[in-house]
Amino acid sequence: MIRDVVVLGSGPAGLTAAVYSARANLHPLVVEGEPSSTSDQPGGQLMLTTEVENYPGFAQGILGPELMERFRAQALRFGAEFLTARATAVDLSHRPFGIWTSATAAAGQAAPEVEARTLIVATGARSLMLGIPGEDRLFGHGVSTCATCDGFFFRGQEIAVVGGGDSALEEALFLSRFATKVTVVHRRKELRASKIMQDRAFANDKIAFRWDTVVTEVLGDGKLRGLAVRNVTTGEEAELAVSGLFVAIGHEPNTSLFAGQLELLDNGYIKTHDGTRTSVEGVLACGDVQDDAYRQAVTAAGSGCMAAIDAERFLEAHGGP
Ligand code: NAP
Repeated sequence: MIRDVVVLGSGPAGLTAAVYSARANLHPLVVEGEPSSTSDQPGGQLMLTTEVENYPGFAQGILGPELMERFRAQALRFGAEFLTARATAVDLSHRPFGIWTSATAAAGQAAPEVEARTLIVATGARSLMLGIPGEDRLFGHGVSTCATCDGFFFRGQEIAVVGGGDSALEEALFLSRFATKVTVVHRRKELRASKIMQDRAFANDKIAFRWDTVVTEVLGDGKLRGLAVRNVTTGEEAELAVSGLFVAIGHEPNTSLFAGQLELLDNGYIKTHDGTRTSVEGVLACGDVQDDAYRQAVTAAGSGCMAAIDAERFLEAHGGP
């Protein structure tokens, strides 16, 4: 069966596209990702967040996973279908587009598992890592990218967060509920984070800052026992005795599936024009996968709405659904 609309991704962008296209009677199929995967999990990055305080309509804030559950329930209510799998390959060279997923063993070999007249790409972005010795080896054994998921394990301990943006401070503030001390290690002297987050972090007496400092190695044998750090202005090297490291240095877009098929910007994000249109007619992109500037849940949701409307208009212009 050829689908009118297939949505890849189930964060705020993908699920909003699903709500809108379901309500336009386009029976979207959402390839939502796999629960076992950190970067392709259903619900996207908000599943790794605690309190979301800036999503309009929730005056008291809402937990990220709960917000995504509500998005999903709304899409289901209007008839969106979900495939709990990861897209493993796409063929955008002709319409209908071909999509292979991790749901079948034949992925990438025989005929595509799903065919789509329009494709909405909402595959989001994932956490960047430091790429230093010990980071991979101790991932899950003291190194984490998700305070919500792992903070509880660090009760009564000292931990570090790397980064100077909103994510880093959000992680640090959350972790201060469990840890005795949280040291934010930042490579410069000024934070990139918003003023309100800075004010909160500075007012928290469990949070300390290590300025002009980079982590050069994650130390430990089977379990993290400290970090090797270097002051980038003085060159001084030291060891920071912590039992946890939370990496919060930004994100990269999940665009490897589309390399060579969709035009990408130099930084890897999908290039869009005239709303959510990509370099391939009938392929729309929304949310963090095409947004290197705003990266907010609400902007992602807004662009998901645009993508659904653009898909509907494309179908109308090409003979209707
Ligand atoms: P970000 O704003 O890009 O900040 C990344 C931080 O990591 C920067 O301080 C950067 O340092 C540092 N960094 C990058 N690469 C590094 C490396 N290799 N080694 C050491 N440090 C490195 O990313 P983000 O904090 O994830 O935020 C992304 C967007 O989401 C932002 O627009 C943010 O406002 C938003 N956000 C909002 C909230 C909220 O409102 N509650 C929460 C989370 C995120 P430099 O400063 O030196 O570049």
